[in-house]
Amino acid sequence: MNTAGDVAARATAGFRQRYGGEPAGRWAAPGRVNLIGEHTDYNDGFVLPFALPLRTVVAADRCDDARWTVWSELDDQPVEFGPDEVDEPGGVTGWAAYVAGVVWALRDAGHTVPGARLAIASDVPVGSGLSSSAAIEAAVLAALADLGGLDVPAERRPRLAQRAENAYVGAPTGIMDQSAVIRGRAGHALFLDCRSEEVEQIPFDLDAAGLAVLVVDSRAPHRHADGEYAARRASCEAAARALGVPALRDVPVAALPGALDRLDDDETRRRVRHVVTEDQRVLDTVALLRSGRIRDIGPLLTASHASMRDDFEITVPEIDTAVEAALAAGAYGARMTGGGFGGCVLALVDADRADAVADAVRAGYAERGFAAPGTLTVLPSPGATRLD
Ligand code: ADP
Ligand code: MG
Repeated sequence: MNTAGDVAARATAGFRQRYGGEPAGRWAAPGRVNLIGEHTDYNDGFVLPFALPLRTVVAADRCDDARWTVWSELDDQPVEFGPDEVDEPGGVTGWAAYVAGVVWALRDAGHTVPGARLAIASDVPVGSGLSSSAAIEAAVLAALADLGGLDVPAERRPRLAQRAENAYVGAPTGIMDQSAVIRGRAGHALFLDCRSEEVEQIPFDLDAAGLAVLVVDSRAPHRHADGEYAARRASCEAAARALGVPALRDVPVAALPGALDRLDDDETRRRVRHVVTEDQRVLDTVALLRSGRIRDIGPLLTASHASMRDDFEITVPEIDTAVEAALAAGAYGARMTGGGFGGCVLALVDADRADAVADAVRAGYAERGFAAPGTLTVLPSPGATRLD
């Protein structure tokens, strides 16, 4: 893994090489991981993500005419576009759509976006579920807002970045990723109510407690993830209709037994049980963190995993192996994080045991004949910011 300083240096070097001269500034935005609260977002429920130390950095300056040139170290070719391409979604495709989408969303909200040259470097793995997409959106948004002196308050930025991704790129995502990477704070997790979109900073100072979160990138091939996601979502929406509530968030955990009695197939009952108990686990996690009891959230993380595995049925063998190996090696709790069918696992561990737990996960993988996973030890880190 590169350190954040290296990423910033790579963005600057890319800028100098592509455009000549020095950038006017550098802006960074992190990836994120969801501590707990899976498949609760589209049920109007609760999530608790935090920002990662891995970051995407944009080195940029403004230019006189309203044209944008963007280069990323992921692609040799810079992409250039003008006002015509950001009048409507669809004018720019491929990875640069995430950049053009931010320009479009800002213009659509009535801002005069300055032309700019941007060079992008990143440590956030792409497509692993750690939200490299929100990181690039948030870093570009911060750069363009500062370069143009635009008045875009922090609380409005997640919506703008989400519009770039939903309406311009065409990827349906909730507000969690953009909220976490823009509003995240070091030593805190972000408690987000997906119905009201209210956020609250929850103390999660792993470092002070001698703890860390180990993130395991399962490297499992995503198997039918889109279709399965749509099926879970449809099942939850149908259950809410059958129960006569706007969303499953409106079924309190105390009312769960009665609600399950009113549903007539076992699969739907299990789907509902996951969502309703998962919302409660987020609330319980928040309550424990508010009273400083970080280690005690371990069993909630592990219960969340069991619920995803047995009731929501969205885990895969690589993921279950990583969770079991982490727990056997002494993690306080472990769970899959993200939409499922691959992606990442997180484990709450003593900081001085993180390497040993990572070794145990790799050994568990080797025993099962799986290709080696990626591992990374993280602490809750700052959200999007200007570097210099
Ligand atoms: P995730 O957000 O989980 O990493 P997504 O599929 O949502 O996965 O977003 C990944 C896409 O975002 C990439 O395929 C690419 O188009 C774009 N992207 C993310 N980071 C970068 C980057 N540093 N440079 C260029 N494109 C990027
Ligand atoms: Mg994404």
